[in-house]
Amino acid sequence: MRKTHTDFEATKRLFTLPGSLIYLDGNSLGAMPKNVSERVQKTVDEQWGVSLIRGWNDHGWVHKPSSIGDRIGKLIGAENGTVLCGDNTSINVFKALATAVKMRPDRHIILSDTGNFPTDLYMAQGLSSLLEQGHELRLVEPEGVEAALDETIAVMMLTEVDYRTGRRHNMKSLTAKAHEVGALTLWDLAHSAGAFPVHLDACEADFAVGCGYKYLNGGPGAPAFVYAAKRHHEAMTTPLAGWWGHETPFSFDLDYRPASGINQMRVGTPSVLAMAAMEAALDLWDLVSLDDVRIRSVDLCELFIAEVERRCPELTLASPRSAEDRGSQVSFHAEEGYAIMQALIADGVIGDFRAPDIIRFGFTPLYIGPEDVVGAAEALERILKERRWDRPEFKVKAAVT
Ligand SMILES: *Cc1c(COP(=O)(O)O)cnc(C)c1O
Repeated sequence: MRKTHTDFEATKRLFTLPGSLIYLDGNSLGAMPKNVSERVQKTVDEQWGVSLIRGWNDHGWVHKPSSIGDRIGKLIGAENGTVLCGDNTSINVFKALATAVKMRPDRHIILSDTGNFPTDLYMAQGLSSLLEQGHELRLVEPEGVEAALDETIAVMMLTEVDYRTGRRHNMKSLTAKAHEVGALTLWDLAHSAGAFPVHLDACEADFAVGCGYKYLNGGPGAPAFVYAAKRHHEAMTTPLAGWWGHETPFSFDLDYRPASGINQMRVGTPSVLAMAAMEAALDLWDLVSLDDVRIRSVDLCELFIAEVERRCPELTLASPRSAEDRGSQVSFHAEEGYAIMQALIADGVIGDFRAPDIIRFGFTPLYIGPEDVVGAAEALERILKERRWDRPEFKVKAAVT
């Protein structure tokens, strides 16, 4: 492990983690920062319980989507006033994509890749059929995105890091290529925000969305976020015209007039309790540098690949071998992947399985260290050597894999 200024022993102590567990699924649901329970409790007892409706003003609940948005913005290279926290990622994909598509009225192709997460693709399909103007989602292999860019493309919609393999697109160069043909870009940062430094403004990205419950540790179903570059604020109009995105919600006008800037992306009343958890979870980032997180994440991933390849030659790496092309997760192909993962979980090592044959391990330096990496590789080796996965109970699929 390379030396960094950030003390990762200290950050681990800021999380609640069952002692014997090795948790390599922070890319799916981040662990719980210890300060969250007290913050949520206080919000319930001292704000909601005491202030009631006055809380919207007295405790600044009304401003949370933008103040928390600005804090997330610092982690993804977005200036203040360009990120809004709220809704879930799927809804934000819809808002951002519909907004972007409307800004390219003469074009009808939404370009994405086969490694994108299904909800992003479904949203594009749903939007296209709603518009009834001949819009079409065009899917190419991840390696073929650049070649598929031409002057018919309205929006290039990509997830920066592939949820299955961890393959990472080059945001800066693909954004520049998209702009060369006049297309807008929508980046999904679900596996980027909090995993490594992101530079939305510097890459000249147009729109972005991302998840609050993965590397940002905001809790199950945490509010997500949406970004729109400042240069688009004048021209854009969201189709999800909710009263919270109105210029003056409390004038209760019969007609919609969008709020200025990113505030028009507010739709309805934000979930204040979920925002309290999210806000507490973000405090951690005041103590760490994302450059250090990236260095440590690369070292942990490299160590895991080396350990697993040495101990389990029957598995093949599904992730890019070069760290530069990878996010903060490592995946292997395994024919009996589902059963192997269930056996691992029974042994206290939590990763997850993604169809058809991927076992996936997320590395979150804030609470995962080299001892966890080696422990997980040892457990995997044991399970494969002793065929411990080969039991009927490990082959029954649960609702969430
Ligand atoms: C996890 C994830 C989502 C999740 O969307 P929700 O609406 O929060 O369920 C969306 N996109 C990508 C790329 C993801 O990895």
